[in-house]
Amino acid sequence: MPMSIAFENRLYPLLEEIVAHFGTPFHIYDEAGIRETGYRLKRCFCGTPGFREYYAVKALPNPAILAIMADMGFGFDCSSVAELVLSRRVGGSGEALMFTSNNTTRQEFAMAMADGGSIVNLDDISLVDKLPAIPDLICFRYNPGERRSGNAIIGTPVEAKYGVSHERLIEAYRTARDRGVKRFGLHTMLASNERDHTYMVQTAAMLLEQVDRISTALDIRFEFINIGGGLGIPYRPADIPLDLEAMARAITATFSAFSRRNGYMPKLYMESGRFMTGPHGALVATAINRKEIYRTYVGLDACMSALMRPGMYNAYHHITVPGKAVDATQVVDVVGSLCENNDKFAIQRPLPPIAEGDAVVIHDTGAHGHAMGFNYNGQLRPKELLLKLDGTVELIRRGERLGDYFASLSFTPDALHTKTRSTTHQLAN
Ligand SMILES: *Cc1c(COP(=O)(O)O)cnc(C)c1O
Repeated sequence: MPMSIAFENRLYPLLEEIVAHFGTPFHIYDEAGIRETGYRLKRCFCGTPGFREYYAVKALPNPAILAIMADMGFGFDCSSVAELVLSRRVGGSGEALMFTSNNTTRQEFAMAMADGGSIVNLDDISLVDKLPAIPDLICFRYNPGERRSGNAIIGTPVEAKYGVSHERLIEAYRTARDRGVKRFGLHTMLASNERDHTYMVQTAAMLLEQVDRISTALDIRFEFINIGGGLGIPYRPADIPLDLEAMARAITATFSAFSRRNGYMPKLYMESGRFMTGPHGALVATAINRKEIYRTYVGLDACMSALMRPGMYNAYHHITVPGKAVDATQVVDVVGSLCENNDKFAIQRPLPPIAEGDAVVIHDTGAHGHAMGFNYNGQLRPKELLLKLDGTVELIRRGERLGDYFASLSFTPDALHTKTRSTTHQLAN
């Protein structure tokens, strides 16, 4: 079921008032739902001591949301300087931060290791020598190649740009150990939006096997394995949700078996983005136009700048029109105002008849929603709201204004008068 019934029940009675006060379009997030998912995750993995979720900041990089994660004891998975800065602002520091970048610059590594540092997760052996100093603790991202299949969003591991290959994994840890690294972790991230929990169980088992292999070869111990994110959510009403409890039971059993073999248990880390916040957000927009040509189009006051996933991945987002009966439906395309024909929130979707002025709710925008938005065609990104536990609705990011869009056109003039004379001035105009 997309977007929990509980969130609908909390949101819909307030919707008219919220729309009247803040105006559309906006993304709204549900603190109660986010916390429920967070506590469920912690409960499920209480059998692996030291379990920690490092929330994938890129999914919803808003300080108010990150503060909720910090309050639940979660760390942060960052892959850019901006994400590090955001996480540190809400109190994340040191080993509560995981810096998982790829194709990383030396400046980014310097930022990751400054200000209290972070766990540096390296994407390649060559990056060891690009760190400003040798850290105490290091992690490598593992790419199993043909040993595993990936999925549509992230691609198959053989074609993926990420990580250290199977053949060079031991060499990577040997290099780090020889440079003076004392503590070790192992990371991977293979799938995205995967609802088959057995895939994640296999990922945990695969990492523990690699831990066995590397430990034996190098006589080192691993403090943690990080199975990445990629836990899926049901975007379509018929989608079967991921069975988190079954996944946790099987992973815990694998950890217990490892512990019996080796006499210790590494900690389990995870870096979910979508699973933590995806279903706990919605994009609310108003229908502003309707037209009937070869198809019927319902135009909203939001566009791709607020939600890229349908246009970028052909992703399905469920849509409801609160207060309208579902029995009489009409097949329509729900569109934005961008001059791109893939600016469609829904294509040939049966929906209740939508009239101008109706509020339309696009579900499951709590991860990779607002965050992916862009400014093509001069379209501005909408505001973000938080429905708090006590029923208060708080503005947690204002909508962009034209001034934001034009901000980068205000700069110190600079021109290079090249030494080689160009011939282009001879061209006729
Ligand atoms: C994007 C990303 C995640 C989060 O992915 P979800 O599918 O949102 O869970 C976690 N780790 C890394 C390294 C990522 O790039």
